[in-house]
Amino acid sequence: MIPILEPSIGNEELENVLEALKSGWISSRGEFITKFEEKFARYHGMGFGISTSNGTTALHLALKSVGIKKGDEVIVPSLTFAATANAVIYCNAKPVLVDSHPDYWCIDPSRIEEKINKNTRAIIPVHLYGHPCDMGWIGDIADEHGLIIIEDAAEAHGAEYRGKKIGTFGDVSCFSFYGNKIITTGEGGMCLTNDEELAERMAVLRDHGMRPEKRYWHEEVGFNYRMTNLQAAVGVAQLEKIDGFINRKREIAEIYNRGLAELHENEELMLHPEMLWARSVYWVYSIVLKKRKNMDLIRYLNSCGVDTRPFFYPLNLMPPYKDDSSYPVAENLSYGGLSLPSSVEIGDEAIEYVVDRVREFFE
Ligand SMILES: *Cc1c(COP(=O)(O)O)cnc(C)c1O
Repeated sequence: MIPILEPSIGNEELENVLEALKSGWISSRGEFITKFEEKFARYHGMGFGISTSNGTTALHLALKSVGIKKGDEVIVPSLTFAATANAVIYCNAKPVLVDSHPDYWCIDPSRIEEKINKNTRAIIPVHLYGHPCDMGWIGDIADEHGLIIIEDAAEAHGAEYRGKKIGTFGDVSCFSFYGNKIITTGEGGMCLTNDEELAERMAVLRDHGMRPEKRYWHEEVGFNYRMTNLQAAVGVAQLEKIDGFINRKREIAEIYNRGLAELHENEELMLHPEMLWARSVYWVYSIVLKKRKNMDLIRYLNSCGVDTRPFFYPLNLMPPYKDDSSYPVAENLSYGGLSLPSSVEIGDEAIEYVVDRVREFFE
């Protein structure tokens, strides 16, 4: 089977983990944690990095720390991984869904304002499958209505909107380092912010709500959302390689784009888009079938030894997030959308093999 996404782990990661193990600092204190937080924040030109146990806890921590609570509404795209909406629900707040943009699959800014009311407190733009959201437009909407922006950057480390890295536009941005993300720590996450007070609040809530200056004193109920030194040891090594990973992802996209161009011209499928204002990191190269269901191609590729993933289901179709609106763009994308093998270590021949099998399917 050609895997869809595999981590790229080298000797640097092994050496760092060994060093961390030998040092005895194997829990959530140790040099690699501070190093990883500082380096990841610096990579983005941001003031503070708060590492977490995973991307979902990063989102929950961010929402909780900016004060999202019962009765609040938070705008999220209908087409995303469920964790985005779940983190809102953990705060006893309500995720309010917005349809996708047909050209680049992220939240459609033109559909946001109709969902804003007096309870709306925040927007979570999700940079889906490596492509940035339209942060200029979303920023204008947030300014006009006094809304907080929390970026869900779990799938797009290093992507750029108009030449500026995503993860730098929101009040807080949240990353995931799950095994298949652009860089990984096994499980892991990070919040970035320029707001020192918010950074401190996130650090306290991440550590049981315990006051740093007074041990075992709790002013409020916090969480254990800490990253371990072992995870951070992997992260430090991965971060050194991030630009190489991204360049390879972009090369992979070029090969797919070239190989599938004809099917795009024949209106059989839509290629993974990249808007003029965007630099995508093509986290996982994806296509949308225009006339057929994604499962037909998924089954065919599976029989040829090619692993794939269907797109997410629009959240509104599932019981916990159901609502009465319709999200036709997200539903169409989900009907025809699938992701193709995109590991940074995949060989060009393997990509060409996948391309040939896709073309064969349409013949
Ligand atoms: C992966 C992912 C998350 C959650 O990250 P975990 O580290 O798996 O908790 C959140 N949002 C999106 C869009 C993701 O792809």
